[in-house]
Amino acid sequence: MTGWVAIAGLGPGSEALVTPEVTAALAKATDIIGYIPYVARVAERPGLTLHPTDNRVELERAQHALELASQGAKVVVVSSGDPGVFAMASAVFEALEERREFAATDIRVLPGITAMLAAAAAAGAPLGHDFCAINLSDNLKPWDLIEHRLRMADRGDFAMAFYNPRSKSRPAGFEKTLEVLREECGESRLITFARAVTTPDLTLRTVTLAEASPDMADMRTVVIVGNAATRRVGRYIYTPRSAL
Ligand code: SAH
Repeated sequence: MTGWVAIAGLGPGSEALVTPEVTAALAKATDIIGYIPYVARVAERPGLTLHPTDNRVELERAQHALELASQGAKVVVVSSGDPGVFAMASAVFEALEERREFAATDIRVLPGITAMLAAAAAAGAPLGHDFCAINLSDNLKPWDLIEHRLRMADRGDFAMAFYNPRSKSRPAGFEKTLEVLREECGESRLITFARAVTTPDLTLRTVTLAEASPDMADMRTVVIVGNAATRRVGRYIYTPRSAL
């Protein structure tokens, strides 16, 4: 039996946004690896072993996937959203670099709809012109680098999407982010807080930076800051396609 690893994105929450390609891979799998809440989204069935693990063990998870595939398992590593966006795909390639004995493994990355795109769609079209995505977690990079990228992104007049905006272990981080943004973008810039997008718990709120407060975000929120031209039309937020 030839094993393989598929690194699959389950989308932002709604089952309607899981791609047919991902559904087909899950149906063929013998093993599912991933963070507990994402593995919980996969239905149990005979012949399928679930391997849920806690947060922050991405490399161990990735190595486990490669080991199982080398023994003939058909492994799906699940991420929420897209597996290439602040998620497991890079972790699997990091593991592959460390464990060259697995170099011949058949690895496929199956894209999914990332939180930022589902949130933008719910709000209107705030990412309709040039934009960037920044992970605000300082687990894997220092705060100074995050601050530098925030300032550079605003100087380039990019709209911005923030993942992992706030957690209990980093209560001050998002407060600092808002301070930097007010300094760089001014108080009237629009900021959208999109929580639990595509799930029944969805909340969507757009305010100005002057009105924004850290408690508007948590770890289920993706935050979108418009560029200088982002504006409201009716109940929608959009960024014009042109910078002219
Ligand atoms: N790979 C994922 C991102 C993982 S990082 C993706 O492509 O979407 C986890 C962060 O994603 C969360 O802290 C939050 O900022 C964002 N996120 C994931 N699902 C979300 C959802 N349904 N609604 C809002 N934000 C979400």
